[in-house]
Amino acid sequence: MREQLELLWELQKIDLELKRIKEDRDRYPKEMKKLEERQRLERERIHQEKEKVELLEKTRRQKEGQLNLEQEKIKRAETRMSEVKTNKEYQALLSEIDAIKEANNRMEEEILQVLDEIDELKKSLSKREKEVGIVLEKIDTEQIRLQEKMAHHEKAWDKETERREVLSKQIESKLFKLYNTLKEKRQGVGVVSAKNETCLGCFVNVPPQMFIEVQKNNALIRCPNCNRILYWDGERNTK
Ligand SMILES: [Zn+2]
Repeated sequence: MREQLELLWELQKIDLELKRIKEDRDRYPKEMKKLEERQRLERERIHQEKEKVELLEKTRRQKEGQLNLEQEKIKRAETRMSEVKTNKEYQALLSEIDAIKEANNRMEEEILQVLDEIDELKKSLSKREKEVGIVLEKIDTEQIRLQEKMAHHEKAWDKETERREVLSKQIESKLFKLYNTLKEKRQGVGVVSAKNETCLGCFVNVPPQMFIEVQKNNALIRCPNCNRILYWDGERNTK
């Protein structure tokens, strides 16, 4: 029986490892998706700020274009100055030019303001780009790490499955069946160690006499509370 129990104990360890790998595997697409979503958000932030800058650049160009047109108007009005005949016409033209000049001054003010705004935005954009660059790099690293982990898991999975196959054949079929049934009903744990007169599967006390027997690893003993097969794994292990 001792050998059988030892084999079963090994099998349990393999099954727990397989369970762990499977859980990791199941989490993988979700984790990848989360990282991709973060990537998207970071890029979106930059995109939005760039759009703001572009919009302001457009405003600036429009205003500058308008200003040029108005300046052309002044030039034309000034040429007309030499052609005017009456003082009244002259005065009218002069006030027209003044009005345009005044409007142009305001326009120049506005252009300067827009330029300031663009400047500020570009500064914060370049700062943001650096920050986002760092974050994106971290996300990249994280993605690579996840991929490597998965590749490693695939190998481990194959190896453990193979070992499980070999071990299973060495275990008596009745015991193997019992183990599988227990494992299914008890969150993947069919064999569990006992320590300090306690079953480490359900943490309920094992009667002292029974615990002494468990420590011998000579007989099939099951926890009176959770029914799992008890195994003595020495003092060192807590699992
Ligand atoms: Zn128990």
